[in-house]
Amino acid sequence: METKEILSLSALEIGECIKAKKLTSVDATKAVIESIKEQNGKYNFVITILEDIALEQAAKADELINAGKLNGPLAGVPIAIKDNICTKGTLTTCGSKILENFVPPYDATVVSKLKEAGMIIVAKANMDEFAMGSTTETSFFGPTYNPWGENRVPGGSSGGSAAIVAADACPITLGSDTGGSIRQPASFCGVSGLKPTYGSVSRYGLVAFASSLDQIGPMGKSILDVASVYNVISGEDSKDQTSSPDAIKIDIEALKNYNVEGLKIGLPKEYFGQGIDEDVKNSVLEAVELFKSKGAIVEEFEMPIVDYAIPTYYIIACAEACSNLSRYDGVKYGYSSKEAQDLVDLYIKSRSEGFGMEVKRRIMLGNFVLSSGYYDAYYKKALQAKALIKQAFDKAFAKYDVVIGPVAPTTSLKLGESLSDPLKMYLGDICTVLINIIGIPAVSIPCGFDKQGLPIGMQLMGKHYSEQTLCSVASAFQNETDYHIRKAQAK
Ligand code: GLN
Repeated sequence: METKEILSLSALEIGECIKAKKLTSVDATKAVIESIKEQNGKYNFVITILEDIALEQAAKADELINAGKLNGPLAGVPIAIKDNICTKGTLTTCGSKILENFVPPYDATVVSKLKEAGMIIVAKANMDEFAMGSTTETSFFGPTYNPWGENRVPGGSSGGSAAIVAADACPITLGSDTGGSIRQPASFCGVSGLKPTYGSVSRYGLVAFASSLDQIGPMGKSILDVASVYNVISGEDSKDQTSSPDAIKIDIEALKNYNVEGLKIGLPKEYFGQGIDEDVKNSVLEAVELFKSKGAIVEEFEMPIVDYAIPTYYIIACAEACSNLSRYDGVKYGYSSKEAQDLVDLYIKSRSEGFGMEVKRRIMLGNFVLSSGYYDAYYKKALQAKALIKQAFDKAFAKYDVVIGPVAPTTSLKLGESLSDPLKMYLGDICTVLINIIGIPAVSIPCGFDKQGLPIGMQLMGKHYSEQTLCSVASAFQNETDYHIRKAQAK
């Protein structure tokens, strides 16, 4: 099979071709690695390429497949993963100078699961430093560029994972989502992404940002690919105290012919109000019209709690982050300043030199909201707001099967546009953060293009463990449209 043809396939299609002996895992892996190498100069979407290990694993996968010992739908298929997911013996930088030389002594649970399923990890994707950001510009390794437009950000923080898929370099990737970092880059890059229910995918080996919000999830060319990888990585894990036994595997066959007739869809008015680009709003509403024409019941409702989304999220996220990041002290592992005079000086210098601006800003914010004089005014209030947000969504899900809105208020911005104004960047997270605060799942799928030809994403939100419904609705949309198939390179 020609390289070009291999790269045009989805993850499931590669799996099928390998099974049908039209393709080997080694050839698929070679094609993907060549493409990543070739395009990385332009997009800077990966930090580390795992060429030798990947080819060795692919050869092993081929052997096992030929012997009939490995036969899952994704056996032998290449995947790239975000660089905050630990890979034993391979650099895991988290996009930070402080972890520039960090080689984990163990695999994250998701990595072990991918390997068990016979998937081949080919690269570690670029990301915002410690997953803090919405543009992938805060990476110590330089920004990632969006294949859809010159000098455009891919979104973030999983911008590398999204751009890799958009550039057809690798059909499927893993990202992580603390406040939108799978969904928003998926939206900016015209790919599909799933932020799973909190607890359904193990966080063991995911470098912590905000532990009560973080979730790993897949990003890919279609919702079928995404759902299939979710099936591989989900499940209870004794190594993660917050992992849940209730995660439900998605029935992939059932996704293919799902009918939205009778489906109850709620549209929160606040998601379509002030600050949302006209093109974004119109595309999402058009998508909803399509569901309506197929028999779905659509209703608008009010969700005023959206006003509290950004402050609540940033208080909780920064509070947890400042505590999680206290482990980087220049002693245990990671960057250690060579200039230090004594222990305290070592802490100060290692952290001052090792962390970037955005990370430092959040450490300061987090310490501030947790300090004794301000705890009640900020952190406690944020927890109270969290309870109200949960109530608002519970009420919505008592009426609707799915809540639909945009993923982000805008399409991809130009590099530098939001980095220079952090508050503006934070406000761009308005549509995604509520989901993480209460731990429910959400899907992001392409649903149109703006006047400049940049992709627009639609967000499908559901109650806890409703991945089957969300992916079914997304699949019904992808059966009827081709937004997810259009290619960035065609521009
Ligand atoms: N953009 C949000 C932030 O900067 C979300 C990041 C994420 O989900 N990792 O915190």
